[in-house]
Amino acid sequence: MPEQIITDVAVVGAGVHGASITMHLAASSVDVTLLERHEPAGGPTGRSSAACRAYYTDPFLARVAREAVDAFASFGELTGGRDAGFHRTGGLFLHSAEEAAEVEATVAALQRIGTRTDLLSQEEARTRFPRFDLDDVRVAAWEHDAGYADPVLTTTGMVERARELGARLLQRSEVTRLSLATGDRSVELGLADGRHVSAGQVVLATGPWTAALAAQLGIELPLTVERHIVADVRWGDAPPFEHVFADIQQGYYAKPEPSGGFLLGPLTPEPPIEDPDRFDERIHDDELTELTGRAVRRVPDLSMAQPRGGWASLYDVSPDWQPVIGEIAPGVFVDAGTSGHGFKLAPAIGRHVADLVLGDPDPELAAFGPQRFEDGHTRAGGYGEARILG
Ligand SMILES: Cc1cc2nc3c(=O)[nH]c(=O)nc-3n(C[C@H](O)[C@H](O)[C@H](O)COP(=O)(O)OP(=O)(O)OC[C@H]3O[C@@H](n4cnc5c(N)ncnc54)[C@H](O)[C@@H]3O)c2cc1C
Repeated sequence: MPEQIITDVAVVGAGVHGASITMHLAASSVDVTLLERHEPAGGPTGRSSAACRAYYTDPFLARVAREAVDAFASFGELTGGRDAGFHRTGGLFLHSAEEAAEVEATVAALQRIGTRTDLLSQEEARTRFPRFDLDDVRVAAWEHDAGYADPVLTTTGMVERARELGARLLQRSEVTRLSLATGDRSVELGLADGRHVSAGQVVLATGPWTAALAAQLGIELPLTVERHIVADVRWGDAPPFEHVFADIQQGYYAKPEPSGGFLLGPLTPEPPIEDPDRFDERIHDDELTELTGRAVRRVPDLSMAQPRGGWASLYDVSPDWQPVIGEIAPGVFVDAGTSGHGFKLAPAIGRHVADLVLGDPDPELAAFGPQRFEDGHTRAGGYGEARILG
């Protein structure tokens, strides 16, 4: 007889979201099992640039991101003494004249909820950031508490805390079959090695693999998968910068690395790919040159930096580039579609998803269900093509 595991809640996927959901459920004394086909952070989470900001236009995500940035700053308290490798650097956001009115409104809204953000005119930004060529920048925002974390330490820290609180971790345990059952254990999960899991409820936190799993229940989720690059650049003879920044006009972000140098990544969409298990994980020379060229146009002395290489990984993308969170069948929940900006949200959104599973959700979370795409209530986060800013 193949082994059968019985659990109240099964969380599938030990990326940073599954880790956080599991930890928050375990903290509420729920009998929870976390299933991961590789190891924690073995998917896109482990390849994340892990920049953290609360600079969001969407009111709910602005609040969640703020909670999350606070959680990174006190990660030890959240996780029983673990370290997320969080560095508070501040974050700079550069905008065109067309975006000025929205940026002003966003900064005012962030200030009202206590997110320390300054609105800077072109002249003020020039004075504070003299290395930047800001001729085409009309306004900028400076978020005091932004920074970056270590994606693997963040995820493993929350998984370890979850286990300490009683959660079960099944690594190298791929869920290959998902079906609805009747009775107390309403969801059956079949694993690749023949084991079965009977769960009262299940959360799919499976990133780019979520749509395929939901399809086994006859549910179509409008999630696509995109390949996105990260360029890894050493300082060379360029003076280091110490803060994260997003250059919305040129369409990329930058973050310093604790080991020296910095990372760059695009803020704009890419064409969808078919198969998340088969894609090119390398960055190509032309991609590296193009991306670093954008950064040099903005910060000319970065021409003395040395592009070293980089990698590519996957975003699971929703039609409005905002997360998809909700109950999609009785006892089946989804937390996916984080569209390239979900790392920093995870420590806080995991609590919201846990509350949803426990039947006590924040009312504002209802607007993030997949139903919104059918009802025509898509979220309007971000700026132009850079919806990733949320
Ligand atoms: C290159 C890159 C840069 C990024 N930069 C940033 C950034 O600077 N800031 C930011 O906030 N966000 C960033 N993101 C986005 C962020 O990393 C993601 O939103 C976040 O990591 C998603 O986490 P997740 O847990 O939802 O999914 P994933 O990390 O995709 O985890 C899903 C997990 O599910 C597992 N799984 C899948 N199918 C199964 C199955 N059938 N059975 C068992 N396990 C399964 C996978 O192995 C995987 O470990 C970036 C992402 C990438 C790729």
